[in-house]
Amino acid sequence: MNACEQASRLSAYHDGEMPFDLRLQFERHLRQCPGCLAELERMRGVTLMLGGMPRPEMPPEVLQRLHQAVDFLPAAGVRRMAAALAAVAAIILVVCMIGLASQASAGGTAGVMPVWESAAVGQPLPEPASGGAEELLAGWMVQDLSWRDRHD
Ligand SMILES: [Zn+2]
Repeated sequence: MNACEQASRLSAYHDGEMPFDLRLQFERHLRQCPGCLAELERMRGVTLMLGGMPRPEMPPEVLQRLHQAVDFLPAAGVRRMAAALAAVAAIILVVCMIGLASQASAGGTAGVMPVWESAAVGQPLPEPASGGAEELLAGWMVQDLSWRDRHD
């Protein structure tokens, strides 16, 4: 075991991950420290030994399963995201339906259809009494939706 306080830098030096200026500085240290030099030689020996070993061949059936697993990963992610978005959309729909039901049961607007709602279901708009912005906007929405129906 190398007790030198610079020994923790040996791996970065050996792997070539040390910046040039630190590398020069560490090489000066190596010339003065037999413990670090011996440790570096041991690392180089292990690297040479491992580099000379034949790489194990992966059996074809294992390679095929690996490819199938990799091919499946993005599709599974998209399916999970679609399921999550569908759940969020369902929650929003339920909340809106509850809100509309509670608004209708409150009786405040019962029998009077809001302008946006009559535009949405395609019923003719009431005559704009004052030419307000809401009626104008609803008219534009109806025209836009009609245009989309003809061109989709
Ligand atoms: Zn040292």
